[in-house]
Amino acid sequence: MSGKSIGLSDELHEYLLSVSLRESDVLRELREETAEHPESEMQIAPEQGQFLQMIVRMIGARRTIEIGTFTGYSALAVAQALPETGTLVACDRSETYTQVARRYWKKAGLADRIDLRIAPALETLDDLIAAGRQEAFDFAFVDADKTEYPDYHERCLALLRPGGVIAFDNTLRDGRVAEDNPESESVRATKRFNESLHSDERVHLSFLPLADGVTLAMKK
Ligand code: CA
Repeated sequence: MSGKSIGLSDELHEYLLSVSLRESDVLRELREETAEHPESEMQIAPEQGQFLQMIVRMIGARRTIEIGTFTGYSALAVAQALPETGTLVACDRSETYTQVARRYWKKAGLADRIDLRIAPALETLDDLIAAGRQEAFDFAFVDADKTEYPDYHERCLALLRPGGVIAFDNTLRDGRVAEDNPESESVRATKRFNESLHSDERVHLSFLPLADGVTLAMKK
């Protein structure tokens, strides 16, 4: 027994998946296709997709945002958990990656729930704010340029209703955030971001050692 989270051996991770993962066929196909991709490490873990679905259902989210779509796994997971009238604004810069995403969203019959915006995410978020969509959203998943997390956080706080939840991915950075002075500027940016969230009184906070670290911030 320990007060800290248990480390997951490969065996224990496999066990956890074997008794809990409920991944639709289309999500599994998308994950398997993306595994062949040279940047496949950008795809979230399947249990993480299921966790995002749980948050969406727990808070009754209808309008959602995703920052960093890649080949569309997390967007599809969220879209599957939304009610029929639910929507997801998906932000990504890459036409190439998101072509895969569009193909699978269509295959899943959920393409009409997802509004893909190909542009720098901050532009899209500022457009939503300029269009008067403040406090119109319930949930945001942030998984893009790590140096821009503070800016995504501010935009999402403006766009989410009180009680809305932001999930930030990769807040553990393969463990490198625990180093005193990490070599990578991107990892140093994550360290600064984690520290700034810790003292941010505008949100309730929970930092989960799930996959590469997922931090939940609920707008007060
Ligand atoms: Ca990620």
